[in-house]
Amino acid sequence: MGKRITLFLLGLILVASCKDANPDTPKTDDKPVKIVRVITPQFNQDSAYQYIQNQVDFGPRVPNSKGHLACASWLNSKLQSFGAETIIQKGEVTAFNGDKLNIQNIIGQFSPEKTQRILLFAHWDTRPVADKDIKDADKPIDGANDGGSGVGVLLEIARQFSLKEPNYGVDIIFFDAEDYGTFRGRSSSMKDDWCLGSQYWGKNPPIPNYRPKYGILLDMVGEKNAQFPKEYFSTYFAKNLVDKVWNTGRRLGYSNYFISTELGYNQQITDDHRYVNILANIPSIDIISYDPNQNKFGDYHHTHADNMDIIDKNSLKAVGQTVIEVIYQEK
Ligand SMILES: [Zn+2]
Repeated sequence: MGKRITLFLLGLILVASCKDANPDTPKTDDKPVKIVRVITPQFNQDSAYQYIQNQVDFGPRVPNSKGHLACASWLNSKLQSFGAETIIQKGEVTAFNGDKLNIQNIIGQFSPEKTQRILLFAHWDTRPVADKDIKDADKPIDGANDGGSGVGVLLEIARQFSLKEPNYGVDIIFFDAEDYGTFRGRSSSMKDDWCLGSQYWGKNPPIPNYRPKYGILLDMVGEKNAQFPKEYFSTYFAKNLVDKVWNTGRRLGYSNYFISTELGYNQQITDDHRYVNILANIPSIDIISYDPNQNKFGDYHHTHADNMDIIDKNSLKAVGQTVIEVIYQEK
């Protein structure tokens, strides 16, 4: 008896929801039918490219340097110009070699009144050394791809928010001091020596009870012929989100970028999403270029070749259009 009532009610609900789910079903009368579809904006790769150039023009964005300070205030004003309310989280962290780093995590909140939220993030600092280079290994790098590209793509997405508001509220975080991990050839007993900015943020939450639906990290997304395998921690913590983003990329025609290879336990990539998952408990993934066959990052990685010459607008478009599609299709 109880069961039957339940089934009957369930039937009613199904009928009702079927109706709602098909607003564009033709009707027999002549009344016009309203079709509600969210159109995703077109991500502009030229604009993203320019935002990378702007960052590189500040020089290396190494904590405690002049270029770092100047770029921080530029990022803050850019986010504000696109309508974000910004929070600058300043702090001091200690690097593997004892250096005290003055860091700034730059947070831009779009539609902060909305309770349904998505987090997008990238690191904005650059590596203080070119420790994989054979020349000038002790000098800092441009970091066009490693640092610049993720931020450039997110700034263009932020610009799109200022033109058309998505259903969800979005927070963009530019984390500092991701790339100050132990230099090659130097010994260090420090655990968790990378991602110092996101670790600081995780341990000192600037927004109380912050519970976005999920997080997406963009790191090294601008190189020519970038390949984004399904990264290990991403799949471990947020498999559904990985599938959703990769399926979206492939549906949009970017299968060469969003490849189906899954990185294994032995190919773990320590990046900011790891600490966002562990410390803040936000299911988060990393879109990061990595060659799964050679089991390494591109040859430019942590060398002086990481400059504007390796940035390709097609890669920026592939990742930017995919992420923006995922955001605007959230209902
Ligand atoms: Zn790096």
